[in-house]
Amino acid sequence: MDLPLYLEPRLEPRLASLLGATGFLRTLASGLGSPLNVVLPDQIVENLARFRAVYRKHRLSGEVFFAHKANRSSALVRRLAASRDGTGIDVASLGEVQHALGAGFAPAQIMATGPKNPEFLWLAARSGAAVNVDGRGELDDLAAVVRRYGLPRVRVLLRLSSFSSPGVRQLTRQSRFGTPVSELDALLKAVERHQDVVDFTGVGYHLDTTSIAEKAVALEGCVLVMNECRSRGLEPRVIDAGGGFGVNYLADGGQWDRYTTELTQAVMGNREALTWGRHGYGLRCEAGTLRGGLGLYPAHRPVAGERYLDALLSHPAPSLGRTLAASLLESLYDLYTEPGRALVDQCGLTLARVLEVRRTEAGDRMVRLEANADDIGLEEHGVLMDPVVVPRAGTRDPAADGEPVGVYLAGNLCLESDLITRRMVFLPCLPQPGDLLGFPNTAGYCMDFSADQAQHQPVARKVAAWQEEGAWRWCLDEQYWPVIQGEGIHEA
Ligand SMILES: *Cc1c(COP(=O)(O)O)cnc(C)c1O
Repeated sequence: MDLPLYLEPRLEPRLASLLGATGFLRTLASGLGSPLNVVLPDQIVENLARFRAVYRKHRLSGEVFFAHKANRSSALVRRLAASRDGTGIDVASLGEVQHALGAGFAPAQIMATGPKNPEFLWLAARSGAAVNVDGRGELDDLAAVVRRYGLPRVRVLLRLSSFSSPGVRQLTRQSRFGTPVSELDALLKAVERHQDVVDFTGVGYHLDTTSIAEKAVALEGCVLVMNECRSRGLEPRVIDAGGGFGVNYLADGGQWDRYTTELTQAVMGNREALTWGRHGYGLRCEAGTLRGGLGLYPAHRPVAGERYLDALLSHPAPSLGRTLAASLLESLYDLYTEPGRALVDQCGLTLARVLEVRRTEAGDRMVRLEANADDIGLEEHGVLMDPVVVPRAGTRDPAADGEPVGVYLAGNLCLESDLITRRMVFLPCLPQPGDLLGFPNTAGYCMDFSADQAQHQPVARKVAAWQEEGAWRWCLDEQYWPVIQGEGIHEA
């Protein structure tokens, strides 16, 4: 075999310590089954503090809203609600707003985003949450609900899209969401009409892109729109820069470069296959020419999370010249952000038990897990990252006596496509039935976003884990409250 092409996960101390607590993880999995999700509520407040530090660095005020959709966990949301740093939550469904209220978030800290039905609009308005409005139709609906049911005046933000910048070619990508800036006038007229029932607090965007240049166009676009609003006599005070700050999943950029290079070589047929069925992750070889593009998450991203926010704020506004932070500060606009994935970075892992290890007809090693591709959504989200072997009780450290090996990871569904990875995953030794594989850093979208009951297979249980006097403790996710846990008190 060629050199193992590892894609080792980036592990911060808390998650590394959890993965090292093999006895603890084995006990959890034997009691609660496989797959099993473990979340780390203390990590999310640490991540929040890092975002707040970037606000402070740029002397900006405003709020960080956790985009709840990244994870359904109660423990993470309750822990955030109790944080002394103060945080908001971005909810995208009726269930999420109920969950946020029930976790202790004050309505003033809740913002409703995403597609909304009448019940969601009603509860958001009834409770006093802010509503991030997608367009004219939704604004009219909201105003009608407020009038009809005699609700208090609702704080409203306008989600905008399709920004352009004077003298700059760079436009922002098309989005299904938000109102194109070119239709702003009609939207503002509606705002003016509904002023008795809506309190217009600001404008914003959410762009699913890694490009800072593109986000700079959007953020500056918002500053320009705010100025226009003020010249019309409206008084918005907030700019909402959405989410999409990203996560750096991998420990080693060299491994990532090597892997993607070798993957390209394999697609071209210049080396032995690295994927099941010659899957190319978007790349293909046509008559000796490489076509397509790598449809993967850029798993090694040194500038992610709060660092990405810092880089964006330090970036010059495309036409105003000064930095975006200075442009915001100058007008005393508050900054809202809605990080999802970035706020749950390092906040958990998914465990799956190894059921079988065998050789395929072609001689490849296939490791079958007691979990399926919907339980471990890394591949679905284009994140290529190795799991960590948690050896079964009574065995030694696998890396100490093992030989590196390439394996395919298959799931527990009776479906050809149920591969947890379509790529060959290199591990320091061959796992054995009874071992666990720990998939780190799944808390952002890769834990429970797609999990279902296919074939009556159980959906993973979820537990919250924390350290107390040097030992790992746990409880069921829904049992977690940030006040008293057994004898311990979580310091907020
Ligand atoms: C999904 C979403 C987010 C969070 O995006 P991340 O990439 O997880 O940071 C924020 N705001 C809105 C409106 C979203 O739809």
